[in-house]
Amino acid sequence: MVSHLACAFHLDEYLGLMKEMLMHLTTEGAGLDSSQLDAIETGLVAIGATQDSVEVIVTDNLVTKVREITGDPDYVAVRGSGVVGAKTIPTANDSVIVLNAPEFRRREAEDLERILAHEGGHVLLNRRGETVTGRRHLAGGSEWQWILLCVGALALDEYRIERALAELGYAPPESCDLDHFEPTMFMVNGEILNACVDPRSDDPQFFMQQVIRTQDWLSKYLAYAAPFYPDGPPQAQASDLARATWNDYVGDHWYERTKLYSALPSAREPMPNPQFDTALRQGLDLEIALLKLLGFEFTTEPNSYSFWRRGSDAQWTRREARFRKAVDGNAA
Ligand SMILES: [Zn+2]
Repeated sequence: MVSHLACAFHLDEYLGLMKEMLMHLTTEGAGLDSSQLDAIETGLVAIGATQDSVEVIVTDNLVTKVREITGDPDYVAVRGSGVVGAKTIPTANDSVIVLNAPEFRRREAEDLERILAHEGGHVLLNRRGETVTGRRHLAGGSEWQWILLCVGALALDEYRIERALAELGYAPPESCDLDHFEPTMFMVNGEILNACVDPRSDDPQFFMQQVIRTQDWLSKYLAYAAPFYPDGPPQAQASDLARATWNDYVGDHWYERTKLYSALPSAREPMPNPQFDTALRQGLDLEIALLKLLGFEFTTEPNSYSFWRRGSDAQWTRREARFRKAVDGNAA
């Protein structure tokens, strides 16, 4: 009996040491329990991110921590109709994964595992340099092309990571399920209309930023859904209003996008530089097309660029009518 106990003690010690090697954990605030930490580690191991030790920070204040590490005072943790659970930040020395502890404490272990497998995918892409960093030259001469190339590149990352998760047998992300389709479509339409009527949009820079912010999360939403749903996020039982918004803003663009995406390797497989550069350029074209569907266009002038609202009056009137109907429906 005594020798068994001694054995168990050594095993625990050994497992503790293993954990230290797989991830370097810092906790700020109330932290997580051991089963939650196990789930985190399982996710990182599943995606293959623990070849080198991964830096993980568990914090009760994600926004402050991310702002501190990135130096970006404008970082916010809301994306479309959801809240960010975790954020992976590339640094000079590998990547740091920051976890939103209050969000994590109320979630099931399987959710945590999935989130960390996803964030571990970002660590892999960062380690191999398969990101937009240092590829400004691919965008052409105008600032707006670089903005949209970045939007496209970030969506591409999300696709490759979620594709890896699909291959590993993880369930589709909940942000793309039927329950989220309705609020997501409401949000797209609402944000786009709001950008057009906001008095601050008299400043074209503000107007453009509002629209691109919406496009950024919409494009990621499409990328998340693509590996799991060949025909788009499930919507057969959604309301006519939500489906009309999908057809208006996305529609057949879905198939253009998934055609490019499905030719890419998952985040677990390295992507040769020429193939990656080509994908980024095609990603830029996709974002130009999506922006047009949203109702906007950039044009290039000799030393500047302009941002325009496009689309017919009838189309914008239909968008407003759908927005009003959806608001009335919710209030009823
Ligand atoms: Zn991601």
